[in-house]
Amino acid sequence: MKKEILIATHNQHKKEEIQQILGDQFLVTSLTDYYIHDEIVEDGKTFHENALIKARYCFNTTGKASLGDDSGLVVEALDGRPGIYSARYAGNHDFGKNMTKVLEELEQNENRKAYFVTVMCLVDENGINYFEGRIYGHLTTEICGSKGFGYDPIFVPENHEITFAEMDAGEKNKISHRRKAIDLFLEFIGK
Ligand code: IMP
Repeated sequence: MKKEILIATHNQHKKEEIQQILGDQFLVTSLTDYYIHDEIVEDGKTFHENALIKARYCFNTTGKASLGDDSGLVVEALDGRPGIYSARYAGNHDFGKNMTKVLEELEQNENRKAYFVTVMCLVDENGINYFEGRIYGHLTTEICGSKGFGYDPIFVPENHEITFAEMDAGEKNKISHRRKAIDLFLEFIGK
């Protein structure tokens, strides 16, 4: 029988991407498949807490092995902001406004070090396990490129000259924070 993993998301794209990575031995389901439409309140103070809140909610509701994730951008000179508030840093989900706010706060600061992080949390009958991936780099002074999403147009990963938004998705996905977290998860489940 296939092992089921419930992903704490309504995002069909995220579900399909994980199904593709895990392959046929796994059945990947989402909140939508369980008709769970409650808003899961992510009021954790860290990426780990938020990933756990999502995964634990799903596990407690369905009894299925559940995976939650939380990601964001951490900027050294801004004391870690936007951090867990990355999605709504400028008060909404507007990527352009969020980037502008970060660039304005940084002004001409010479320390432009930043990293993206993803924390995944698996909750199942055996307990709680975390998988964390990071990609280090620096922030530009202006928006460059139009691919990707979120803060991609202002983030240049280390050992690269271009932003995530100037790279092809394939290139980004090979080195991204999300990729690294998924790899650790795969290793854990023996894939
Ligand atoms: P989520 O937890 O995966 O929904 O990510 C929260 C927020 O972090 C997103 O809305 C983006 O603003 C930012 N973020 C996470 N991953 C990335 C990425 O790969 N590129 C750009 N922004 C990202």
